[in-house]
Amino acid sequence: MKILVTGGTGYIGSHTCIQLIQAGYTPVIVDNLCNSKISVLPRIKRIAGHEITFIQADVRNKEAMVDILQGHDIDAVIHFAGLKAVGESVEHPLEYFDDNIHGTLTLIDAMREAMIKRLIFSSSATVYGDPASVPITEDFPTSATNPYGRSKLIVEECLTDFQKANPDWSITLLRYFNPVGSHPSGLLGEDPQGIPNNLMPFVAQVAVGRREFVSIFGNDYPTQDGTGVRDYIHVMDLADGHIAALQHVGPKAGLHVYNLGTGNGYSVLDMIHAFEKACGKTIPHQFASRRSGDIAECWADPSKAKQDLKWSAKRNLEEMTADAWRWQSTNPQGYPED
Ligand code: NAD
Ligand code: UDP
Repeated sequence: MKILVTGGTGYIGSHTCIQLIQAGYTPVIVDNLCNSKISVLPRIKRIAGHEITFIQADVRNKEAMVDILQGHDIDAVIHFAGLKAVGESVEHPLEYFDDNIHGTLTLIDAMREAMIKRLIFSSSATVYGDPASVPITEDFPTSATNPYGRSKLIVEECLTDFQKANPDWSITLLRYFNPVGSHPSGLLGEDPQGIPNNLMPFVAQVAVGRREFVSIFGNDYPTQDGTGVRDYIHVMDLADGHIAALQHVGPKAGLHVYNLGTGNGYSVLDMIHAFEKACGKTIPHQFASRRSGDIAECWADPSKAKQDLKWSAKRNLEEMTADAWRWQSTNPQGYPED
């Protein structure tokens, strides 16, 4: 089966391509390279053992998307392409709505024209807003606290309406918790441009000497040590979740919604200490004030995915931090330019 992977040279997309190949699928990548580098491709080839088809294109270009979908005999689409930085979305909401909402609508329009009716969409735990309790199940109320979150929520709602009107489509919304870690080879990993927004790439850059210390945003939350608690999931487990979705609900018409998380919550201090163990160094850190829009704690109830998709996260905190460190220490500046 041929799977179009939009955003396939990005962090989660590149790891998913490896797992797709392992599972016997043929991924075809479309990416406009606005947040990834072409030098990811030879790395994927090294791990997979063969070349992978890559087309540089923008998902907002409908004609190009129809040509690609038809020209490559695509059976299903995994749609990762989009913008993901919360702070940037507050400053540039229009760009986020255009890429994430208009991009997805253009893609499904192109799929409709090419008569391809299976889609897996990258959603996020951000659609739960500030949840009333934890763990979070898929039927919790949804809300948005920033333009990035709103773009995910609006797309979820558009896809829900679209699927209702087109009941023979299979659309799966995967709500990711906090992806971390890297491919165990150390060849693929997370390579944020500029100052990392997310905790783990920031910690990794401190460990490798690119930054001085980690600022911990808040130590007065009602959590076990006062720092924020999240459900960190190894990116390889997340990638496997897409294969499970393709296999178990891809062939079934309907709107399918799943949390992809581990069901465990770790605090910022837990993560820093785990990373210290992995890299054998002390990670300097300082307490700072809370980051606006942050919530105290957020972790998944992943039992629906376990039951329907026969999937659960397998890799523990040690593997997350060891793999992240392998990537960061062997690629201190991230991927080469070309
Ligand atoms: P990423 O930025 O590494 O990958 C996204 C890729 O999409 C990049 O390679 C970028 O060049 C490409 N892209 C962006 N706009 C495009 C467009 N219009 N046309 C074609 N390509 C385009 O991000 P990621 O961490 O791999 O995230 C993948 C998806 O998962 C995103 O939709 C993101 O919102 C979602 N998600 C990510 C996280 C996270 O913490 N990483 C959490 C929840 C959800
Ligand atoms: N965090 C932090 N310092 C940083 C980045 C993040 O203390 O430099 C905290 C943040 O407040 C949250 C947790 O780490 O409690 C995870 O943040 P991240 O941005 O990685 O994910 P998200 O907030 O989207 O869940």
